[in-house]
Amino acid sequence: MPEYKPPIDAAQRRAATPLICYSVDALPTCDMALYENAREGMEKVSELRVAPRDGETFEVPAGYFFRIVSIEGPQVGDLNLWNAADLSERFFSGKTRQLHATHVSTGNRLWSTMPGLRPLATITHDTLDWYGWGDDGSGIHDVIGTRCDPYTNFMLKGLDYNNCCHSNLTRALASAKGIAAEEAEVHVHDVLNVFMCTGFTQDTHQYFMKASPVRPGDFIEFFAEIGLLGALSACPGGDCGSSHSDDATQCYPLLVEIFKPQEGALKGWRPPVRSGYSGRHGI
Ligand SMILES: [Zn+2]
Repeated sequence: MPEYKPPIDAAQRRAATPLICYSVDALPTCDMALYENAREGMEKVSELRVAPRDGETFEVPAGYFFRIVSIEGPQVGDLNLWNAADLSERFFSGKTRQLHATHVSTGNRLWSTMPGLRPLATITHDTLDWYGWGDDGSGIHDVIGTRCDPYTNFMLKGLDYNNCCHSNLTRALASAKGIAAEEAEVHVHDVLNVFMCTGFTQDTHQYFMKASPVRPGDFIEFFAEIGLLGALSACPGGDCGSSHSDDATQCYPLLVEIFKPQEGALKGWRPPVRSGYSGRHGI
């Protein structure tokens, strides 16, 4: 219950017209026809399997495509992306949410942290795009939640659980870079919750999850706008229909596939440059 009474013009104040915060019409254009042409004759060059409750890293050259594929059973994945040449530039889920929406799909981009602020990847296909928005406000592939982590789990349950997505991503990055877990951990960031079905409750606006509609064969496909290092965790929550941060739920592996584009199809295409803002901060 609120502590303070509404003012007499409360209804009028509440009736202010909502505006989209950013001039998103001015976003750099996204040439979907170019991507479609490039993927027409693309060739799979590698794949890797992410075991349940575990994480793996993968590299994707600029101009290549990668897919995250559901295999064997419904499973949610937590994705981190870095500039392969500079871990300080990484996926910026908060800005991606502001520029696109709470959940992302085909045509949306995964933006990088400042001062880069450029597309790291563009979503080119999403077999779950049919889901749209549920009556309860749910959507797929969210950028509103963060990864499950052992610290929050310990705070809430008093238990040590070491296969949360945060830990899986940390170990995978540490192993890929040959660095200590403590050193890798600071680079692990808020994720794209691949295949996860989430939203905010309509009465209390709390973050909720429900069983993902993903089924084996479903995939989300990305175009790598720059050379990427990715890390994917197969969340211990499985389809996230009951719990996470424990071993209670049935979990399945995920597949990552890397594709080389059709030869010559990206002629004239260049990786996006970092933000043109000078970075002087007005000084
Ligand atoms: Zn997780």
